[in-house]
Amino acid sequence: MTDRLLIVNGLVLPDAAQDARPADLLIEDGCIREIGAPGQFAAAREGARVVDATDRLVITGLVNGHTHAHGGLGRGAVPDVALEGFLAASPSINGQRGLDDLALSATLTAAELLKRGCTALFDMTSEFPLPSVAGLHAVAQAYAAVGIRAVVAPMMADRTLYQAYPELLATLPEALQPPLARLQASDPDACLSVVRQAAHDWPFDNDKLRLGIAPTIPLHCSDAFMQGCAALSAEFGLPMQTHLAESQQQAVFGEKRYGRSLVAHLSGLGVLSPRLSVAHAVWISDDDISALATADVTAIHNPLSNLRLGSGVAPVRRMIERGLRVGLGSDGANTSDTQNLFEAARLASYLSRVVGSDEDRWITPGDALRMATEHSAHAMGWGHRLGRIAPGFQADLVLLDLAQPIYVPLRNALRQLVHGENGAAGDRVLVGGRLVVEQGRLLTIDEAALRRQAQAAAERLDALNAEGRHLAQALRPWVSAFCCGIGQSPFHLARRLGR
Ligand SMILES: [Zn+2]
Repeated sequence: MTDRLLIVNGLVLPDAAQDARPADLLIEDGCIREIGAPGQFAAAREGARVVDATDRLVITGLVNGHTHAHGGLGRGAVPDVALEGFLAASPSINGQRGLDDLALSATLTAAELLKRGCTALFDMTSEFPLPSVAGLHAVAQAYAAVGIRAVVAPMMADRTLYQAYPELLATLPEALQPPLARLQASDPDACLSVVRQAAHDWPFDNDKLRLGIAPTIPLHCSDAFMQGCAALSAEFGLPMQTHLAESQQQAVFGEKRYGRSLVAHLSGLGVLSPRLSVAHAVWISDDDISALATADVTAIHNPLSNLRLGSGVAPVRRMIERGLRVGLGSDGANTSDTQNLFEAARLASYLSRVVGSDEDRWITPGDALRMATEHSAHAMGWGHRLGRIAPGFQADLVLLDLAQPIYVPLRNALRQLVHGENGAAGDRVLVGGRLVVEQGRLLTIDEAALRRQAQAAAERLDALNAEGRHLAQALRPWVSAFCCGIGQSPFHLARRLGR
């Protein structure tokens, strides 16, 4: 029997290209069937669930194009450091976690996202020392329980930070070098076989929870491993994601290692494809942007973590002008402190005004909303069914309270939403027509119990990781100097990129 749902009396913003208008929605089996004038579906009320959206702005659920499940339990653990400082410390932040911790961290991530109007995420998920089928299932099961959509993509590398940057290792005091030089990254064949096994026997509904694959950072992956990931992506249709040129160090040392840009190198390896999305892409040239656009890759803008880690500002307008699709991510709660995609959208819009004073090249509210919805959905392989309120799209919907001050008086719902909303107006959230948040509270889990579990886990993990944290503190001055020393680079990359 068809499950029929009506959402009536709302002010509906169908997508980034249209104005909000009073409309009713007819939803069947979790899928939007029709948008109609108010009252149009009165005859369909019998036997239907009816949600009254009076005084509510109805928008499509936001889609987070880049985050990390493991960031949930790492919240508050990252000091004021640049990206490489964070990577050097990350074993002491993400280490010692069992399957329950992986699930708990994913639950925290999903809970925060849903409460802030985000109904789907691309999760680059981490398990130390290498991914496991059980770990991937634990994360996916956590998402299923909370009721969010996700791509679960194991984050993998076959080089350590110190193998990626031998120059960093060489700058460290001699006493610190041997143990770090002895560190081994994951075995590449073992990583690939875990993903193959997971893809062969994925027990989740692929319309809600997909497997992906995530070679974490090109410099941290051998060419063969990167190509092995791309081959699995092609064989099983897995969305693939990597962190591309997030920091200036990655771009400079990538060029040093490969004799050409990271994008040119990846292109040469044959790994650029419509299934690939590249998170950050801060330090890339116009030629790089054009190459990514030609290959139909999606870039994911992450303004929150780019600012937090001092990575820089991605050239989003230049990307859009060159035909590169740009989605939006929050990045992990450890390096962004919040998963709030409303805030990321506002930053995407405002930051473009720091880059230049030409008003015509600023990121508009429509640009920002498209990034946070349709374009992120495309990176997940769901561009045809997520990110708009339209017939055939999933009923992933957010109802925002128009009595909140940012909407009073109401003149331009799109502008007031993107520039003003911080999630405080969040009332109800539906995923596939299922109500998962009501009056701002999650219906699927016990939030008070989750908080207690998170605090207990954080205290246990911090005790277990104390030794690693002391090592990270000892390394910090040298890693920090390595990050700051880029200005003396002979490569003059910043100038070449027009910064
Ligand atoms: Zn990331």
